[in-house]
This record gives sequence, structure tokens and C-alpha cells, in this order.
Amino acid sequence: MKSIHFVLAVSALTALAAAAQAQDVTTVIRAAKVIDGRGQTIANGDIVVTGSRITRVGARGAVPTGARVIDLGNRTVMPGLIDGHSHLTWYFNRQGRYHTARDGDTPIQSMLAAAANGAATLMAGFTTIQSPGSPEDKDLRDWIETQGLPGPRIITSLNALQRGSPDTLRMLVRQRKELGADMIKLFASASIRDGGAQTLTDEQIAAVCGEAKAQGMRTMIHAHSKESVKASANGGCWEVTHGVFVDQEALDLMAAKGTYFQPQCSLVFSNYLDNRAKYDGIGNYNAEGFAAMERALPLAADAITRALATKGLKITYGTDAVAGAHGRNAEDMVCRVQKSGETPMHVIVAATSVNAEALGLGSRIGSLASGYEADIIAVDGDPLADITTMRRVSFVMKGGRVYRNDGNR
Ligand SMILES: [Zn+2]
Repeated sequence: MKSIHFVLAVSALTALAAAAQAQDVTTVIRAAKVIDGRGQTIANGDIVVTGSRITRVGARGAVPTGARVIDLGNRTVMPGLIDGHSHLTWYFNRQGRYHTARDGDTPIQSMLAAAANGAATLMAGFTTIQSPGSPEDKDLRDWIETQGLPGPRIITSLNALQRGSPDTLRMLVRQRKELGADMIKLFASASIRDGGAQTLTDEQIAAVCGEAKAQGMRTMIHAHSKESVKASANGGCWEVTHGVFVDQEALDLMAAKGTYFQPQCSLVFSNYLDNRAKYDGIGNYNAEGFAAMERALPLAADAITRALATKGLKITYGTDAVAGAHGRNAEDMVCRVQKSGETPMHVIVAATSVNAEALGLGSRIGSLASGYEADIIAVDGDPLADITTMRRVSFVMKGGRVYRNDGNR
């Protein structure tokens, strides 16, 4: 009996040691081109990963003893992408229609659909998303973070705020924080399908952004009209999303106040138009709404061109991915280069280090640098020469774990 106990004890210890080693395994990722997320490139670079962190980024060097090498050949490596605006809980049900609360799907079925959207997003190279937001995000966020569910890191507002007196809105901000929200989402204007005019007073907007700041939380404001964008910048809000109808004064004001601007280029509109039959007849997804989105396409691309020319304006990357768009989150990178005249490097930086900074995670993710989380992806080819290369993600590592590696082609 004694010897059996001894054997069991030894094998348990060996297993523990193996588990500890597995966590601290060193991996060298090498590729023809490395984009660091801050605007620099390295030819024939190495990224050394130990456990979940990056420990070295630089020119090809000696392989540490015992390290495994992942040679990505001609591929281009960069930090895991960040979509600052994605709604993972939006999906098409099995009848091929946009899911609503009354379509008969159970909460479990809805959560499985959200998990599938998370997996699709991760496989497309987006290792972090911000969701503004839905209460289901909380469990999805926590299961991805701690229970091994494949998906991006999730930063969530839980439900968005839409109405209430300034005092009520301040109370709702504090309540969201208690419920586990990472940030606050506020609707300050109508939907693009309803004209996009300001829906809250300047005082209500300032109440939300002021209280959130006092609570140490960031704010993201849905604002289309120039008036609502200006009220958000003047109210001390952190980030404005949409802004299809911004004028130069609103862009200059955001730059002066340090407000991050998150414009969409095409995916959100073209996805609705491509999937019209699946949305048609639900809420404001009607003839008028679809016509408004068609009209928005050139306006949105033009707003980005003007934003890029605005001195000092911090432009982030957020697609507003909804049902049908998950896994295609790189489409706005293509649009911003092809339709708005942004350089490929600039949009890659927007979707990595600038977005990380806008999420308050600038010292943890969004850059390939020593000490950062090992969120690393690769695309087949050179996105600086052809931005459509961003559609061909073939390697995904998040927190040191490889989720995808299609092999060299
Ligand atoms: Zn949205």
C-alpha cells in the first residue's frame, strides 16, 4: 500500500510540474514581416512568448533552449486586432431572421449563438472587442476569460442608457458599475434609420459623462447629428461613435477636448443592406430605414476622410458589428483605405494600439512589445501593400494560446 501511495504521489507531482511547465512554455513566432501596432515594422522578426506574455520582439535571434518555434514564413504578424464596437449577442435565428425577444428562442439558445459569434470574431483575428452592450455580455465575458470558451476579450457596458432625468441617469451609471459594467454606453441621438437627431439635452449628456468619470468609467456616446456630437465633446464624454453627420466644427471640438472618435465606414450599413430580408419589417428596419442606410454609405466614408484631415483628432476603430457581420470585422479597414484614403498602417494602428489606449488598456494589449499580452495574429501576405490581406487571417494567438494556425500557403 505504501509504495502505491508513493507512486501516486510522485505521478501527481509530475503532473503538477508538467502543468506548470506548460503554462510557462516559451514560443518563438517568426515571420517575414512584423507590424508592432505602433507604426513600426521589423523585417524577419521574432516574437518570443513565455506563458501568456510577450518577452521579446526584435530581429531574428537565437532560439532559447527548449522553446518551440512557430515559423509563419511569408506571413505578416501584428497585434491581435481590437473592434471597439461589436454586438456579439445579435444573431440570425434558425428561421433566418434577426433574433428578437419574441421569436421563441430560449436564453440558452441565444447564448449559444452569441458564443458562436465570439468564436467567429476571434478566428477573424479580433482578440478584443468592446460591446455597447447587452446584459448577457457579462457571462460571455467571464466564460471566455476564465472557463476556456474561445472568444475575444470583452469589454462591456451591459445595457445602454437612453433616458431619465440627470439625477436618474447618474444613479443608472452607478448601478451599471455595481452590476459589473466596464464602461457606459449612452444614446444621445436617434438611429440613422430615424434621422440621427439629438435625443437628450446637453445637461443629460453631461450628467452621464460627468458621473461616469467620477466613478472611474469610460463613456461611449451614440451620436449622429453634429449637435449631439458637440454636446458629447462639451460634456466631457470619452468616445463618440457613429457621427455620420459631423461637420468640421464638431470634428475640431472633439480634437480640442480629446474626445475619441469612432466612425464606421461601411460594414454596419452594407451588412444590413446585404441581409435586408432577414431584418426587414422588424422595428425601424423598413423601406425608409434601408434608404437612410444607403444614403449614409458615402457620407460615412467622407466623414472619415475629413476626420483624418482634422489635426489632433484621435480616431479609433469600431465596426458596430451586428447579426451577419461577426467575423467580417476587418471590412472597415478595407473601406477606410479604399474609400476614405487612410493609409493601411494608420488603420492598423487605429485597430491596435490606439484602440487599446481608447479602452484604457494601452499598457496591456494592442502592441507587440515586451510585457504585453501575447495577442498575436498573422495574415497571408502584406497588408501594407494590399489592405484586403486583412481578410486572410491565418494565425491567431490570444493570451499565449494558439487558436488558429492554417499553415503556410
Ligand atoms: Zn452599436
